[in-house]
Amino acid sequence: MAKVGVYVCHCGTNIAGVIDVEAVRAHAETLPEVAVARKDLFMCSDSGQEMIKQDIRDGLVDRVVVAACTPRTHEPIFRAALEAGGLNKYLFEMANIRDQDSWVHANDPEGATAKAKKLMASAVGKAARLQPLEDKFVDVTKAALVIGGGVGGIFSALELADMGYPTYLVEKEPSIGGVMAMLDKTFPTNDCSACILTPVMVDAGNHPNVKLMTYSEVEDVDGYIGNFTVKVRRKQTYIDWQKCTGCGACAEACPVRTTNEFNQGMDKRPAAYIHFPQAVPKKAVVDMEHCINCAGRKLGQEPKISKKTGKPMLAPCELACPADAINRSLPLDPQGRIEEIKVGSIVVATGFQVMDKGWFKEMAPEHPNVITALQLERLISATGPTGGNLYMPSTADKKPKTMTFVSCMGSRDEKFHTYCSRVCCMYMIKQARLLKEKYPHMNIYMHFIDVRTAGKDYDEYYVGARKMGVNILKGKVGGLQIIDDHRLRVLAYDMEAGTPVEYESDLVVLATAIELPESAKKLAQTLGLQFCGSNFFKELHPKLGPVETSTRGIFLAGCCQGPKDIPDTVSQAKGAAGAAAVPLAQGKVKIEPILSEVITELCSGCGICVPLCPYDAITLKIHAEKPRAEIDITQCKGCGVCTSACPSAAIVLHGYEDEQIYAQIAALTA
Ligand code: FAD
Ligand code: SF4
Ligand code: SF4
Ligand code: SF4
Repeated sequence: MAKVGVYVCHCGTNIAGVIDVEAVRAHAETLPEVAVARKDLFMCSDSGQEMIKQDIRDGLVDRVVVAACTPRTHEPIFRAALEAGGLNKYLFEMANIRDQDSWVHANDPEGATAKAKKLMASAVGKAARLQPLEDKFVDVTKAALVIGGGVGGIFSALELADMGYPTYLVEKEPSIGGVMAMLDKTFPTNDCSACILTPVMVDAGNHPNVKLMTYSEVEDVDGYIGNFTVKVRRKQTYIDWQKCTGCGACAEACPVRTTNEFNQGMDKRPAAYIHFPQAVPKKAVVDMEHCINCAGRKLGQEPKISKKTGKPMLAPCELACPADAINRSLPLDPQGRIEEIKVGSIVVATGFQVMDKGWFKEMAPEHPNVITALQLERLISATGPTGGNLYMPSTADKKPKTMTFVSCMGSRDEKFHTYCSRVCCMYMIKQARLLKEKYPHMNIYMHFIDVRTAGKDYDEYYVGARKMGVNILKGKVGGLQIIDDHRLRVLAYDMEAGTPVEYESDLVVLATAIELPESAKKLAQTLGLQFCGSNFFKELHPKLGPVETSTRGIFLAGCCQGPKDIPDTVSQAKGAAGAAAVPLAQGKVKIEPILSEVITELCSGCGICVPLCPYDAITLKIHAEKPRAEIDITQCKGCGVCTSACPSAAIVLHGYEDEQIYAQIAALTA
């Protein structure tokens, strides 16, 4: 018979404050399979683990049950203790008497103690029937993929590349840079955003280990940590980037004017265009959605021959290009072509979007002089639509005399997002300070619920804005009334004065919430990512696994994990790169053996399991001239679907075998 050691943890007062730990320990002693039952204040402490190791070394126990907190964080620690004591680490079971018991039954100590006894006994039932298992190891592809080329993705890619790993940087837009490339200056130092970002973008573009894949998106990901096969969809540019010099002649010649996304819709761009002046790579694309097929020739067609000249009739962009780089005859391929790459780890850095102002009907979103803060960034940027001069959008040549900032639009709001977007207080203060410096006579009002400036030198920056004469009011803006095409009436409340406030404003800036774009849902499905309560990508653990995800080998960086400023994005991006490099440096990855296995002799070859496996891990192969199911352990995730579906009971899920589960049920129902 197995000799099970049971170790019950107080977890300080987390468990012992509710559960009678001694009663649980004493109950363990009454179970026939239990050889030793002990308790400790903190089983995860050195002394707690030493207790387990010593009992193994003394030959007192050959299976271990720890009744304590959650296996999610603590199972690896106890498994390591078993190994250090000389016991196979899979001869271990954990009973979660904290999260599943003391925390949820804090008002019922007696009931909680009775439940703890059952949870512990059920773990003993299973542990007594566990068999030793061995880890398996597979080779790693020593390359990485970073998805999203904002400041977060760029830093992750550069770190990985500097460590010597070939790194693919996939960006959906024609250039890397993300939102930081759209910003004018950055808080709290007022550095010019482009001046600090452009050299880093250029580094990424020139680094021998970084392969930029812009104008591209990840279509499909297959495989597992160390061995991912990724299909990248490369959109058709109709321009040979080997030849394109980024001169911009095609853009000048193109007659189309369509919404300029980079300038947040504040001006128009041609169909043949370069994303922005400092783009990396600085290459043009022909936007097939807006190209009007000049010279009567659709994309994908050969040019018509002029009856007059006998020469091909080319479009203005083609005629203008001095490098002969434009090829509108390439097959019309709206979906783009697929390129397959192989990598060992993946960093997701797909960033955020700001909420559309259209959501806030009470803020007159249809008025041209009501804009988002990101639109204001473009209006005050030297590379923006007005060359950095702040004009009222309704006039295009008059400066506002009075302007208003409204905070928390869609953040900290039950109707939209309950979370704080973290950066808007600071960027509004930045924008107000920059405008006050440039236009000292402008009246600037800022309305906050409260000001959040938790960051290095951030509060001083805020106090500076007050000293510069920015009117900072605590209280909400109830709404805006349109006075005429150029002016709005602000209806607000000043909590400090305890009075309503009303005044006329020429320009209103809404600090709309940071959120994950809709398109992120598709990526989450492709990568198997989960969402947190705020609808950002969920990290493995909010404190101890902030860059990892529940899918091994996939890591998170930047605002896709939650709102953050540039310093926090860069820190997390470097952290994610470090974590992503670990499997690459190790050269091999461990596959835990809690996986399904086919007992070939029992398999009838019916194939029922094959389509059921959600990870395509099962194939029918010929064994002794008969088809038999075979499981690829590198694909199997141990979900157990096949085990429960097999009519011949030919598939066993190690670590969850029938007799182990029956023993658990028996103990729970005893
Ligand atoms: P992003 O900048 O959003 O980059 C993500 C990139 O991923 C984008 O290039 C996007 O095109 C790409 N992408 C998205 N989906 C995919 C996909 N499926 N496949 C491939 N590529 C994809 N912070 C400061 O510290 N100082 C400031 O002064 C400051 N001012 C700000 C002003 C405003 C108005 C706003 C809105 C934010 C400001 N911030 C500021 C915050 C700053 O913008 C962010 O911290 C930073 O941009 C986050 O970088 P990121 O790489 O996580 O995301
Ligand atoms: Fe512009 Fe060339 Fe298209 Fe004409 S054919 S709309 S010039 S991109
Ligand atoms: Fe590139 Fe030719 Fe356009 Fe110049 S004109 S940006 S070389 S495609
Ligand atoms: Fe509101 Fe400031 Fe938080 Fe933005 S950072 S949501 S403006 S409190």
